[in-house]
Amino acid sequence: MSMAEKSVVEKAKKIFENFLNRQGSRKTPERFSVIDELYGLPQDEHIDVEGLFLLMRNKGYTISRATIYNTLDLLVECGLAVKHQFKDKVALYEQALTYKHHDHHVCNQCRKIREFSDDRLSLIKEAMGREFQSAISSHSLVLYGDCQIENCENLRII
Ligand SMILES: [Zn+2]
Ligand SMILES: [Zn+2]
Repeated sequence: MSMAEKSVVEKAKKIFENFLNRQGSRKTPERFSVIDELYGLPQDEHIDVEGLFLLMRNKGYTISRATIYNTLDLLVECGLAVKHQFKDKVALYEQALTYKHHDHHVCNQCRKIREFSDDRLSLIKEAMGREFQSAISSHSLVLYGDCQIENCENLRII
């Protein structure tokens, strides 16, 4: 882990600590280790509870699925993680602290997730905000398709 990545983890832990203090929740080492592992992943990785559980168990942590599940939800609540519920998939989580908003393309066949951001969406948000007299605060957009890449399961079947 680089110096920059380390300081992101430290910053995330500080935010989490303050959040837990405000909530009067317990500050257990297990909860903080979830930050280490979520933020230790590549920035564009999306992981589910089971994936994180296996990863942490393989690294020798003694942590339950329930603790991971609860901690991830706390991280979402304090803005340190984003939770996605893509079509017919279990909930996936990704780190959020220094990662700017982006949207996703999910392949119907191989389930590969790719990320994109397109400034044209801000024009739509502005226009719809005017139309609905709403201060648009966020959006989510998921494109589903059959990816035409070589390692797509869809193409392997053909
Ligand atoms: Zn993403
Ligand atoms: Zn695919």
